Amino acid sequence: MPLTPEQEAEIEDLRATPRQTLRAVSEGAEKHLYKAHPVLDHGFVRMIDYMGDDAAICQAARVSYGRGTKSVQNDEGLIRYLMRHWHSTPFEMCELKLHVKLPVFVARQWIRHRTANVNEYSARYSILDREFYIPRAEDLAAQSAQNNQGRGDVLGPEESARVLDWLREDAHRAYDHYEQMISDDGQQGLARELARMNLPANIYTQWYWKVDLHNLFHFLRLRADSHAQYEIRVYADAICEMVRDWVPAAYRAFEEYRLGGVTLSASGVECLRRMLAGEEVTQATSGMSAREWREFSDIVRK
Ligand SMILES: Cc1cc2nc3c(=O)[nH]c(=O)nc-3n(C[C@H](O)[C@H](O)[C@H](O)COP(=O)(O)OP(=O)(O)OC[C@H]3O[C@@H](n4cnc5c(N)ncnc54)[C@H](O)[C@@H]3O)c2cc1C
Repeated sequence: MPLTPEQEAEIEDLRATPRQTLRAVSEGAEKHLYKAHPVLDHGFVRMIDYMGDDAAICQAARVSYGRGTKSVQNDEGLIRYLMRHWHSTPFEMCELKLHVKLPVFVARQWIRHRTANVNEYSARYSILDREFYIPRAEDLAAQSAQNNQGRGDVLGPEESARVLDWLREDAHRAYDHYEQMISDDGQQGLARELARMNLPANIYTQWYWKVDLHNLFHFLRLRADSHAQYEIRVYADAICEMVRDWVPAAYRAFEEYRLGGVTLSASGVECLRRMLAGEEVTQATSGMSAREWREFSDIVRK
């Protein structure tokens, strides 16, 4: 179960007592506030708080040159201009605070994004729950033959059943020993900060994660991308849904210029120009390495 009954009750309580405010309110974000969106088998992501909306991005941007500029027609146009030209600081005026429950091995990837504020569940202070990420059989795949950092074909039924058995068995055996080590029944009981060290990386942890919109977009561009590991991508996808509702114009610009856009090298631009002029460009005549050419071809040839 992703949420404890206490957490469910707290969410009900918070949503039942709205308050008036003079601050900018995003109707789209309000509908997400406090609610948990399930991710993986026991995880979730929920919006705890937000600051700002699309208008806050424009308000901050306009201080640069004063109101009434002729060059920018409307807020959406301004936001698209800012995104297109990498004017990042106006996006930093918006902030999002999330409560996330995630497996430890996913948390290790996530924490690499240093431009956020984090507070994590303390396994020195509290006892971890017996909750482990066990993938669905269809998510168990072999090592990719092309990409050293990825998955290839889905495992056959016999092999995936064997893997799932081991994952469950190992996790529960480790947790049994964890419980026995911390127990003070007839013994001193090992400190929690030490007993946790035998727990596997698929055990769940939780944290509060606060980040500004510019750095959140950077996180989402990397982690909602097809090259990101599935287990973090599903969290990024859930956050994308929230951000789409919170700051719709900024999200549309992000989809257009970052998620759906590409960056070309100088050689790539040159090759593209030659191709548009009718030249048959090959890897040998492109001036690119085989890998770079493959990536370039993936972009320009559907
Ligand atoms: C598909 C994929 C595969 C990866 N594989 C590996 C891997 O094999 N091994 C591995 O170790 N990591 C790996 N990473 C992690 C990756 O290298 C980054 O650490 C991670 O994506 C965080 O990115 P970031 O540093 O840009 O983000 P943030 O930490 O949020 O930083 C945002 C930006 O702020 C600036 N910044 C922040 N802190 C500093 C600083 N201290 N000094 C200078 N500039 C700073 C940088 O411009 C940075 O781009 C992988 C990431 C992805 C998406």
